[in-house]
Amino acid sequence: MVAHVPSFRQQAFINGEWVNADGRASFAVVNPATSETIGHAPDMGAAETRRAIAAAAAALPLWRRASVMARAQILRRMSQLMIEEQDRLARVMTIEQGKPLAEARIEIAYGASYFDWFAEESRRIYGDIIPGSQDRRLFVIRQPIGVVGAITPWNFPSAMLARKMATALAAGCTMVAKPAELTPFSALELADLAMRAGVPAGVFNVITTNAAAAVGEELTHNALVRKITFTGSTAIGRLLLKQASEHIQKCSMELGGNAPLIVFEDADLDRAVAGAVTAKFRNAGQVCIAANRLLAHVSIANAFAEKLAAACAALRVGNGLEDGVAIGPLISMAAVEKVERHIADAVARGARVLTGGARHALGGSFFQPTVLDNVSPDSLICHEETFGPVAPVMRFETEEEALNLANATPFGLASYFYSRDISRIFRVAEKLESGMVGVNETAISTAIAPFGGVKYSGLGREGSRFGLEDYLEKKYICLGGVE
Ligand code: NAP
Repeated sequence: MVAHVPSFRQQAFINGEWVNADGRASFAVVNPATSETIGHAPDMGAAETRRAIAAAAAALPLWRRASVMARAQILRRMSQLMIEEQDRLARVMTIEQGKPLAEARIEIAYGASYFDWFAEESRRIYGDIIPGSQDRRLFVIRQPIGVVGAITPWNFPSAMLARKMATALAAGCTMVAKPAELTPFSALELADLAMRAGVPAGVFNVITTNAAAAVGEELTHNALVRKITFTGSTAIGRLLLKQASEHIQKCSMELGGNAPLIVFEDADLDRAVAGAVTAKFRNAGQVCIAANRLLAHVSIANAFAEKLAAACAALRVGNGLEDGVAIGPLISMAAVEKVERHIADAVARGARVLTGGARHALGGSFFQPTVLDNVSPDSLICHEETFGPVAPVMRFETEEEALNLANATPFGLASYFYSRDISRIFRVAEKLESGMVGVNETAISTAIAPFGGVKYSGLGREGSRFGLEDYLEKKYICLGGVE
């Protein structure tokens, strides 16, 4: 049975007001599980973005000087409201994005944890005193960077924005956010909660659009914006970095991944299978830190692949609002076609389909969870982010070979491995080229640790005290003439 769907905001949010696009243009948002239009969002462009930036700039002086206690209280209230409204917010997310309701609830709680964490961190933006010479005293203070432009993707429509918003507001910055065209409503709900939590007008603004390039250009070409924070594909990240160079805006880039998951011969196999299922099939594989390539030692590869295929075949596919559904639809038919291309290419290079391998009988963008065995490392699936429910298993013989395979990618967001050998654990963790490593664990993302990548996976970190640094400037003050 499909559960109740709540109402939600369908206007953009500028300077504390709910507004339409100048020409009242709007675009439809479609539920990927049913192909039904669930609502409309304003189709804004450069002019509205400019107004939102001006509002954020006007709100900055008061917000940056607000007492740390006042800011912390508002952020904590934001976290509480998210938890109080967890179920409603999760339903909005499921109908616009497709993920199972249970996953959507977890995402809301995860986003709330960032507000909670940064409510505390905002009270600890300490400075430094550096020993100087006899007649000088040297100080370093940390100040908010200023107005931040945030652009976020559709795969975690609430949490990807909550991570940025919580940190920016904690640092004393103000923000203009642009969510993905496919999933604008979860972002608008965050604006609604911000207003109710007491975030002053202009501090947080949301522009919705189906003309992302125009809004991105205004955010990067407007000198009032001092930082761009982006989560999305490496291609768009690269474009924004170029655009941001005009006004030398600071940039945080959370980009694509191609995570390896290595299962060594000394691993706890059942734990590895359970970890691989979470890392590969959560959000139907549409996760930047999804395990994109599974590498199993030859001695346990058959057992691992078979257990994984059995676990995968048990995952129920369906509308995310229905009880017991583990895999929702893919976001679009283009995503389905990419998955099919990856499977066909792997099979042409000798891979065997252990389970799944085709579109689901439900039709639309539903796809069967799939396990491929004996995948050749030169397959497309090993080099591109699949962003779908396909687990390709490769084999290796030595630790060195596993590391070479794992690092044979320009991406470096997350890596995972399973082993019970303590020397190997340190050796391999240190040699993997990624910003994050999960050892015997794939649920690694948390507000209290730095999330981010190396190589083509991005710049900067979100979460933890390190995340806050990315929204602060260090100012050195030299006081001379001290007798
Ligand atoms: P995307 O195409 O790069 O889109 C991301 C955001 O950028 C959307 O809001 C999109 O707007 C906007 N955008 C597109 N073209 C733009 C332009 N010319 N100027 C300014 N903004 C523009 O990525 P996606 O397909 O939505 O998301 C999937 C990607 O995100 C994957 O590569 C995934 O790995 C990555 N991701 C990374 C992380 C991380 O933390 N590292 C987390 C989640 C996802 P429209 O939607 O309106 O086009």
